[in-house]
Amino acid sequence: MKGRGWEVIQRVKAGELLVFDGGYGTMLFAAGLLNGACPELWNDTHAGVVGDIHKGYFDAGSDIVETNTFGGTRLKLDEYKIGDRTRELNVKGARLARQAAPAHAYVAGSIGPTSRLPLDYALDNGVTDEDYEATFREQAEALAEGGVDLFAVETMMFPQEATAAIRACKAATDLPVMATMFFQYEEGNDRDRTMWGESPAEVAKSLLAAGADVVGMNCGRGPDRAITIIREMRGVTDAPLVAYPNAGLPVTKGDTVTYELGPDEMARDYPALLDAGCNIVGACCGSDPRHIQRIAEVVRSRKK
Ligand SMILES: [Zn+2]
Repeated sequence: MKGRGWEVIQRVKAGELLVFDGGYGTMLFAAGLLNGACPELWNDTHAGVVGDIHKGYFDAGSDIVETNTFGGTRLKLDEYKIGDRTRELNVKGARLARQAAPAHAYVAGSIGPTSRLPLDYALDNGVTDEDYEATFREQAEALAEGGVDLFAVETMMFPQEATAAIRACKAATDLPVMATMFFQYEEGNDRDRTMWGESPAEVAKSLLAAGADVVGMNCGRGPDRAITIIREMRGVTDAPLVAYPNAGLPVTKGDTVTYELGPDEMARDYPALLDAGCNIVGACCGSDPRHIQRIAEVVRSRKK
């Protein structure tokens, strides 16, 4: 029997628009997470805080909420010397989101970069495709054990790492995989590229070829760039597309970082993002449930 996550794919293929969630980092910092501390550890030590963030997004109108497991690979957790808690922290993260989820909603297991360079780019200590796959597979299996409906492979910088994560999810379970990469806007060339130069069209094709069921962009810059990126992806595929950009660019004042776009300003770009062919929309850094509430209103206004 296929997992419930496949409903997400069926629904968007039937023309429905769905709402993803917003940022976690800023909300965890606001709740007291210290700079340099491990966010995934809070799935154990501050379960109530994490659960409340999930609930806040569901209440704001998210159809899909992701787990607090962005840095939950063993390679990443090893930076905090807690790689041996990989399974536990991912299972707990998945259960927290599951517990907060209404019956009709979905939970996506967040899988972010390891922060370790692929062999081809690293001067030393580079990671092989096999090592990437092993660390992502371990995380994916734990997230599935905790009850996620699908995976969100996200904020990926390197195509090798993204495709290894997709293959690992597919090897671990039969759940659907959303995969999104981080694009930089090159002002001089007026174009969006990954850190290593791939275009949105190339990214869409390579992530789909690796087995992703939904592809797109997240983080990076604001929704204005997301519109262009999604339009370019839509030009080369009929597959479901997802975008959850940042609330514009970060603005640093002293020690505090805020983001350019408030909820209303951010939501203003979403009709065009949907027109560009995006099927699932949310937000990333600098956003909170107020942003998602406005974005959900835009999506609801499109429903026939
Ligand atoms: Zn972000």
